[in-house]
Amino acid sequence: MAKETGRGRCMVFEPAYAEAVEQRLLLARDLRHAIEENELHAQYQPQVELATGRVVGFEALLRWTHRERGPISPAVFIPVAESSGIIVDLGLWILREACRQGRDWLDQGLPPRTIAVNVSPAQFWNMDFETAVSAVLAETGLPPNLLCLELTESLFVDQSEHQISRTLGALSGLGVRLALDDFGSGYSSLGYLTRLPFDRLKVDRSFVDGVSTQPEKRKLLGGIIALSRGLGMSVVAEGAERAAEVDVLRDLGCDVVQGYVYSRPVAPDKAPVVADAIERTPLVEWGPRPIRAERGPP
Ligand code: C2E
Ligand code: MG
Ligand code: MG
Ligand code: MG
Repeated sequence: MAKETGRGRCMVFEPAYAEAVEQRLLLARDLRHAIEENELHAQYQPQVELATGRVVGFEALLRWTHRERGPISPAVFIPVAESSGIIVDLGLWILREACRQGRDWLDQGLPPRTIAVNVSPAQFWNMDFETAVSAVLAETGLPPNLLCLELTESLFVDQSEHQISRTLGALSGLGVRLALDDFGSGYSSLGYLTRLPFDRLKVDRSFVDGVSTQPEKRKLLGGIIALSRGLGMSVVAEGAERAAEVDVLRDLGCDVVQGYVYSRPVAPDKAPVVADAIERTPLVEWGPRPIRAERGPP
């Protein structure tokens, strides 16, 4: 909190503000015990390759079910975890869990699919991250090329490109894939895209939403896709909710789509079933909401 007052900002202690601070402290306290109390789990959202209709990966997303308050959104608890440093432990927990799950699916004879895991800047900077990743891969037996680490542009804030480049290079050397997440949602220079070893670019949902009805958005997205393909990166579009958006994305040359149009994030035991359904049934648009084509009784 000293950090918050240290910037010469004038603070007004309204009860609502004090309450919000207290809430965050309480959440941080409970989050510290979430791992040992078994309150965390991972959900998986399919990523669909447009050229083949295959599910080529899953993104692992952290879920927290508070014992009294029930499910708490990552939009609420991830920032708390980041500002309190707890994200380092949570991040390691989900990395291990997702790699273990990915290995388990391989052992069940399912097709190899990439497992994408989100990484916060604090994890990246606060420990010997490449050593931790390497240890988790060895421990779980997931082939390195099936792990994709998702990093956001916030990684570049206050860090030298040399430092970033060194750690990304080491990770890349392990054989893991690197994705730049939420691309376009924050401020950043485009220069690093040409110099850092990202394999894929995840276009933020804000560029995908409405792309089928707004010509300007379509142009912008087309430009982003052309740019990243030109730099040798594959493009994943996040947050497609409608089949019409998928049609545009296909026309624009996008490689992979992840969004509610295919599936929401689901529990690990549902993920292979959902992937199978996606691969067997084409997307159709019917009425105001997208639905999947039915193939007789479920
Ligand atoms: P993200 O990494 O960009 O993950 C995608 C988010 O978009 C997920 O939200 C997902 O459920 C949501 N999403 C996917 N398709 C659609 C769609 O069609 N429409 C809409 N409206 N949303 C869609 P979620 O799970 O609530 O996670 C939010 C954010 O929290 C993530 O954004 C990520 O930044 C963070 N997060 C989640 N799990 C982790 C984690 O394990 N570690 C870290 N560091 N951050 C995480
Ligand atoms: Mg992500
Ligand atoms: Mg994202
Ligand atoms: Mg995000």
